[in-house]
Amino acid sequence: MDHLQRFVSKVRAYMLAVLLIGNLVVFCALWLGLYKYNLNEFLVVSGVSLFIVVWSVVFAYVISTHVTKPLGMIWQAVLHVAPGHTDTPAPNVDKLTLGREIVTSLSLQVYQLASVTATPKISDQNELKAKNIINSLPVPMFVMDKDQNISFANEAGLKYINRAAGDVIGKNVYSILDLSFSSESTFDNWLNDARAHKLTDRTSWDRVRLKLPDRTKPLQFDMAAYYNKNNPSGAETLITFFDHTTRYGDDDDSLSFIALTVHELRTPLTLLRGYIEVFEDELSGKLDPEMNDFLNKMQVASQQLTAFVNNILNVARVEADQLTLQLHEEKWADIITSVVGDLNLRAKVQNRVIECQITDSLPTVAADRVSIYEVLVNLLDNAIKYNGQNQKIIVKAYLTQDGMIETIVQDFGVGIPPSVLPNLFEKFYRNFKTKANVGGTGLGLYLCKAIISAHGGNIWVKSKEGEGAIFGFTLKPYSQVAAELKTGDNKDIVRAAHGWIKNHSLYRR
Ligand code: ADP
Repeated sequence: MDHLQRFVSKVRAYMLAVLLIGNLVVFCALWLGLYKYNLNEFLVVSGVSLFIVVWSVVFAYVISTHVTKPLGMIWQAVLHVAPGHTDTPAPNVDKLTLGREIVTSLSLQVYQLASVTATPKISDQNELKAKNIINSLPVPMFVMDKDQNISFANEAGLKYINRAAGDVIGKNVYSILDLSFSSESTFDNWLNDARAHKLTDRTSWDRVRLKLPDRTKPLQFDMAAYYNKNNPSGAETLITFFDHTTRYGDDDDSLSFIALTVHELRTPLTLLRGYIEVFEDELSGKLDPEMNDFLNKMQVASQQLTAFVNNILNVARVEADQLTLQLHEEKWADIITSVVGDLNLRAKVQNRVIECQITDSLPTVAADRVSIYEVLVNLLDNAIKYNGQNQKIIVKAYLTQDGMIETIVQDFGVGIPPSVLPNLFEKFYRNFKTKANVGGTGLGLYLCKAIISAHGGNIWVKSKEGEGAIFGFTLKPYSQVAAELKTGDNKDIVRAAHGWIKNHSLYRR
């Protein structure tokens, strides 16, 4: 504003000076012509009138040129930044005598305004380009804001879930994508962790499932996610899917087929085991050592076959979401002793000794007897199989500091290389170093994890290659589970088994 006032004052002074000079000249001319030189009046008035006309024209020209020059320069500054006038140079204010300050100041304002409006224009263009590229990506992609509402879905994403953009944009991701994960590291857990501790983060998951209302079977894919806390565009999380519905679905179908076939083995197997037990009862003490050894081996083989059949059927149940646990109040020491008793013969045949170290007066646990039996059988069976030349296997059970009942099964055999450890609990996973020598399916540990998770516990492994392995798992005391589920009495607690975990909670279906 100061610049403007100074400019107006200067223009006023300029005009005043010019007018004064003009009037002075007229006055002097009249005085000299009429009084000093006594010239003809008509001549003097005509001469002075002519001067006034010429002076007025000159005055109008000079004033208009000088006063409007700053305006012209501001106009040039506007044109300089206007789209389509890129060849207009920036005004050179040094040439100005009048209004240099105001032109400098206004030109700067024009440039600033232009840069503010030009930035979104450029980023609009970039955004448009990016959207075009993302839309032509053959990979489904969804972008979420801080409230986990979907702010963008590319065309492949909309096609994948068979929805229109209008049905999806602005909706909460969980209401649109019913995702399930095969472990407790869910999308929601990752996002909460990233929000708490990171500025940016990225991760991926295998075998994620997506239920859609118009499909009977879920879509199955690997998923990757990117998180950016302060993304200026407001896009906080981005997820992409890599579809494997056919491949993973085929695995499931073949498992269902195997389960169906294996189911048929159950009846003859039960018969066989029954007859072996009759033989044992009837012939014990009457057989020579070699025959006795054969009988033992038959019994062990039938036990192993039963464990195999149970594993396959249970994995099929987990996959189909049909493994239901009946949690009872159980004395944990009794269960361990009974499993170890059942496996003693198998251990003896392979020259192993199972040593039990169970802390006295453990609290009762909430456990499904049948399933937890299988966890112990699988862990002990592995310890027997992978114990190399060693005899000893240790089973320990004790109370942890946070009030859980922890059980470990330790052997001193071949151990597990570090590269293999993280994948051990995955379906069909087997250590490449031992799978040629020792038979197995790679389903036992997967099943153990599913069963322990469904009990609300954790399973873990520690191992050094060549020094053996320790597998451990925790169970909740019965009192805690009863309190959590508010039953409080000694009735069965029916709990759905672990299958797939919802993305936003640890709710088990
Ligand atoms: P499997 O039927 O192959 O034993 P599991 O799921 O029970 O299937 O085990 C998966 C893999 O983990 C096994 O193939 C083996 O390589 C490794 N493993 C499990 N338990 C032990 C152990 N006690 N010592 C060494 N390796 C083990």
